[in-house]
Formats: sequence, structure tokens, C-alpha cells
Amino acid sequence: MGTAIQEELQENLRGMNWAGKKLVYCETVDSTNTKAKELAELGYPSGTLVTAEQQKAGRGRSGRGWESPPGTGIFMTLLLRPAIRPDSASMLTLVAALAAVRGVRDITQADVQIKWPNDLVLNGKKICGILTELSVQEGMIRYLVVGIGINVHNESFPEEIRSTASSLFLECGRHFHRAEIIGKLLKNFENDYEIFCRTEDLSGLRDEYHAFLVNRGRSVRVLDPRAPYEGKALGITEKGELIVDVQGQKRLVSSGEVSVRGIYGYV
Ligand code: ATP
Repeated sequence: MGTAIQEELQENLRGMNWAGKKLVYCETVDSTNTKAKELAELGYPSGTLVTAEQQKAGRGRSGRGWESPPGTGIFMTLLLRPAIRPDSASMLTLVAALAAVRGVRDITQADVQIKWPNDLVLNGKKICGILTELSVQEGMIRYLVVGIGINVHNESFPEEIRSTASSLFLECGRHFHRAEIIGKLLKNFENDYEIFCRTEDLSGLRDEYHAFLVNRGRSVRVLDPRAPYEGKALGITEKGELIVDVQGQKRLVSSGEVSVRGIYGYV
């Protein structure tokens, strides 16, 4: 099993300039982000890609888990060593979402959209999550890992996430090649990352991000831990904050640890 998908992956990474040039394929890991961080500490280069068939302890934001049964999904992490300020790093998670949405759309032709800041949704359900983590020393980024989990072949989900989670198979009724999605996604990421690095903000990518943003023009509930509130999402700033109109007043939501929901459901 391992060798076949590894070869398919290598085939799909052939045209890459730097992303995935170094590929670390694992049968089982705790989490691809954890593995990538270990490799970063060992000096692996920027662009190293870690993929796994299975995560034993896949992670989401705020210490939440990411359901990762064997063979069902894309479990991948890209290691980066960007020369940007640490407070610009959260924008890279939106860059990754943009690369992922186009990668998945290219392969599936499905109307996949972005739920701010970095989840992908299809028919109102989450099919992809992204977790960015960084190591900072003396005000400089030592490395950053962007973990992307995409539900591809899953036929069912555990009770607790059944109402919000889905897979490409469940929504599209067919199976897609994971390696092809990864290839497209990384190619897009190489391109978008370069655009991002030119200005260190999302000014060059914002229009495209908006085109895929499911929340745009919709009522949202911002789950601010201090005090949740509702408003209408207008779009994002060049820094990636969500602009929410709350009774005529614009509030900016930074991606950090805040989640956003539709007022009637997940989106
Ligand atoms: P939100 O809470 O708005 O979904 P988030 O960005 O805070 O987004 P993530 O870190 O992306 O959350 O993902 C973790 C959450 O996603 C978990 O708390 C769980 O509810 C849900 N989840 C876990 N595994 C999966 C999966 N394979 N597919 C879809 N959703 C999942």
C-alpha cells in the first residue's frame, strides 16, 4: 500500500519548484505537524512535505482533535522557514486555505468554499481543516508548519461531528486520488506563497479569497470567548481579519482562537 501511494505522490510532485521536493511519507504518525516539527528541529529544509496514511493523534486548533482513520484522508504538513514577522504567520493559514480550495476544486469540480479563516466546506459541511504552528526565537520565526487534513474517502463520521463533518466521497459520490489533490494544492501554494511574501500581507490574494469565502455577505456568529456576538460578514482585511458589520459598526475578528458559525448552522 505504502509504496503505491508514495510513487503516485512523487509523480504528482514532479513539477514542483520547492514544495514537496523533500517528501517524508509515513504509514502512521501521532500527527503530521508533530512529525514535521521534529524534522524541523533536525534541520530539514523549507518545503519539506510530511504525509501519512493515518494519524493516531491528529490535532485541530485549541487542543481539539482531528479525526484521521487509516487511508481515509489527506494528512499532510508543509514545513516552511519564512523570513516574515511572527505576527504575519497567521495569514499563511489563509494562504493555505486558498491553495487548498483551488486544489480540491480543480480535481473534484465541486463547489468547495472557505469558511473563515481556514476551513473548507462543501454543502455546508467541513471537509478540511488547517492547523498552523510556529517556533519563534528572539522575535524571529525559526520554522512554521502548515498542517492540512482533508476528508477524502470517509464513509461515515463519529456521532459528535456527524452534523458538521463530511468527505469528498460522501458529498460527490465518488473517490478521488489523494495524490492528485496534494499535487494541485502544493502547486497553488507555491504560487500564492510567493505573492504573499512580496507584500507580507494578503493584498495580492484577497480578491480571490473573497471569491471562495462562504461567509461573505452572510450572518455569522462570532464565538468570541469573552462575549459571542452576531453580525454580517463583509470580507477580510489585508491582514486576514474578518470584517463583521455589527449594527452598522465594523468589528475586526483576528483568526487566533476564535471560531465563526452561521447563525442557523455550521456556515
Ligand atoms: P470550527 O470549530 O469552526 O470547526 P476550528 O478551526 O476551530 O473550526 P479545527 O481546528 O479546524 O477547528 O478542527 C477541529 C474541530 O473539527 C474539532 O473540534 C471537531 O469538531 C472537528 N473535526 C475533527 N475531526 C474532523 C474531521 N475529520 N472532519 C471534519 N471535522 C472534524
